[in-house]
Amino acid sequence: MIVEMKKGAAKGDVQRVVERARDMGLGTQLNYGTEKIVIAILGSNTGQLSTDIFAVLPGVESVVRVMKPYKLASRGFKSQDTLVTIDGVEVGGQRVVVMAGPCAVEHRNQLMETARGVKKAGASIVRGGAFKPRTSPFSFQGLRKAGLELLAEMRQEVGLPVITEVVDPSQVNMISKYADILQVGARNMQNFPLLTKLGKSKRPVVLKRGLSATVAEWLTAADYLLAEGNEQVILCERGIRSFEDSVRFSLDISSIAVVKKFSHLPVIVDPSHAAGHHDLVGPLAKAAVAAGADGLLIEVHVNPQEALVDGLQSLSIPKFEKLMNELRQIAKSVGKSI
Ligand code: PEP
Ligand code: MN
Repeated sequence: MIVEMKKGAAKGDVQRVVERARDMGLGTQLNYGTEKIVIAILGSNTGQLSTDIFAVLPGVESVVRVMKPYKLASRGFKSQDTLVTIDGVEVGGQRVVVMAGPCAVEHRNQLMETARGVKKAGASIVRGGAFKPRTSPFSFQGLRKAGLELLAEMRQEVGLPVITEVVDPSQVNMISKYADILQVGARNMQNFPLLTKLGKSKRPVVLKRGLSATVAEWLTAADYLLAEGNEQVILCERGIRSFEDSVRFSLDISSIAVVKKFSHLPVIVDPSHAAGHHDLVGPLAKAAVAAGADGLLIEVHVNPQEALVDGLQSLSIPKFEKLMNELRQIAKSVGKSI
């Protein structure tokens, strides 16, 4: 249930709604909009309650029953777009934010040279996996702690913020010391203990869409982060499983528009894991920007032929530079910049 307060409603009126919810064993979350306050009523049995319980209270403008499974991620709860700021870089605004770097941190030179290359080409955040959740237990699992230390060194030397993946709730505090953004991988989109722990963290989170998740399931997973008080949530479309096998995953371009319609959260796109091949990354990245994505997460490697992970889908630095130039034109045509 969403309770919309009247413009300029008194503090006491807001308090009365919160208290009535509490008396009924329900939780609340408040959104202080520019015009009015919106209160989400949270609980498992709100579907059975009459909206009158809140509608009769002074200062209440309207009470709406939420038909979708997600509440806090919905536009009904917060109509204005959420902006997530990382070290002065704003995601969700006028600029398309490009995060780029290797799939996995492999060694010092590989990371430093790739980071310098992507920075020169215009990327504003460096990606690099230290803990790799691989489909096979026999594949390279990442440098782990040593990888995080290299990322922190890179941050110092190259001067760009870092995004890296977290796979286990017990790692959240430790990884937060090294990284600016914590990434939840597609395979962990519904790892609820992980989401709950990240919800308590002060770090922005990129929540990737699960391999077979609907947009509603993805937004409901985002509610786990928002419910714990972390409002710095960025969604990432990375392709879903379909019958099509000419690409690694089918990039769901429509999800960008669907998210924009139903949610206030920014959405970025990872064309690399969808494409599975470097030749296809450019067209998918361009389509994503044209469709209104707030950013891109792209795999780039200083020497893709020698990459330990995902070399086939990684762009070389010259290829990434060329793509960035093409993306600037597309961004401009939709009223944005890169
Ligand atoms: C990644 O970005 O490194 C990754 C493993 O992607 P995904 O979780 O989307 O498969
Ligand atoms: Mn990868």
